[in-house]
Amino acid sequence: MQRRQFLGSTLSASVLGAEAAGQTPPRPAGDITTAAEVTIERPQSGKPHAGKVLATIAPHSDDHSILSGGTIAKLIAEGYTGYLIRTSNDEMDSYDMTKGQTVAANETDNQRMADVLGIKQVFDLNYRNHSMDDVSKVELRARLIFLIRLLKIDTIFSYDPWGHYEENPDHYITAQGVEAACWMAGGHLDFPEHFAAGLEPHMVREKYYYARGPQLVNRVVDISGTIDQKMKAIRANRTMLAHMVGEARDELAKRKLKLPELEGDTDQAIAAYADLRFRTAFARRGEPYGLAYAEQYHYIGPDTSLDAYVERNAVPL
Ligand SMILES: [Zn+2]
Repeated sequence: MQRRQFLGSTLSASVLGAEAAGQTPPRPAGDITTAAEVTIERPQSGKPHAGKVLATIAPHSDDHSILSGGTIAKLIAEGYTGYLIRTSNDEMDSYDMTKGQTVAANETDNQRMADVLGIKQVFDLNYRNHSMDDVSKVELRARLIFLIRLLKIDTIFSYDPWGHYEENPDHYITAQGVEAACWMAGGHLDFPEHFAAGLEPHMVREKYYYARGPQLVNRVVDISGTIDQKMKAIRANRTMLAHMVGEARDELAKRKLKLPELEGDTDQAIAAYADLRFRTAFARRGEPYGLAYAEQYHYIGPDTSLDAYVERNAVPL
């Protein structure tokens, strides 16, 4: 993700207006929720998700940790098996490295970050960073459909394909590919060569979409129990965090300023920056719901429209 906009984008015009007028904002900062009911997803004891599979699919290593790391860690602790699919090669995201060094460093960081979250396996699709709008949509979709069928993915995390004002093509191209692949993977006529190779149609049943700008939010997840794991995952993106810290220092220097906690040892500066920027932001997201820390999503669950009828009328085969 591009860090500069992260905090600024969480303040919607309507919320700012309400605060200016001395009113209590109707929703947490960053939400434009229209008529959606918000469900609070809380920690569950035991392993209620045992046997289920999730995948986090995003272009950049830090997208996974920053935007959904708390919920992913929570669901894996509750029994999910997790996979991570990184669609870009992150070649543009470092402070003082060459492109080649940047690709290798972020590949290593991505694996470390995935390990912190408890991910079973990482798939790097390695499309050119910042250039994914030049990627064939059908090729990206086909690769994702293959992985959905291969891994039997039940639940995905990704960018909201309908999130507004997203400026990074890697984000919206990946999101569009994910959304189409989720249902098309269930088709029996799409990519029949997969079936010859032993795979079966498999549709994704649950989707957690996040966005950096205005979004229809209908699910808030209590990540109070996994916030420390999330922060550790964010810090594991060391190359990207060092980039953020370096840019922050440079911006301050232009104003003849510095923050003492961002000076000196790189790892200490990264830890301080991550707390100032991200721990604070996710605490703010929890405040309106009485939660210490929260992540927010547009959640799309399975189609249950026939469930009641089936319950009353279905008979054994
Ligand atoms: Zn990103």
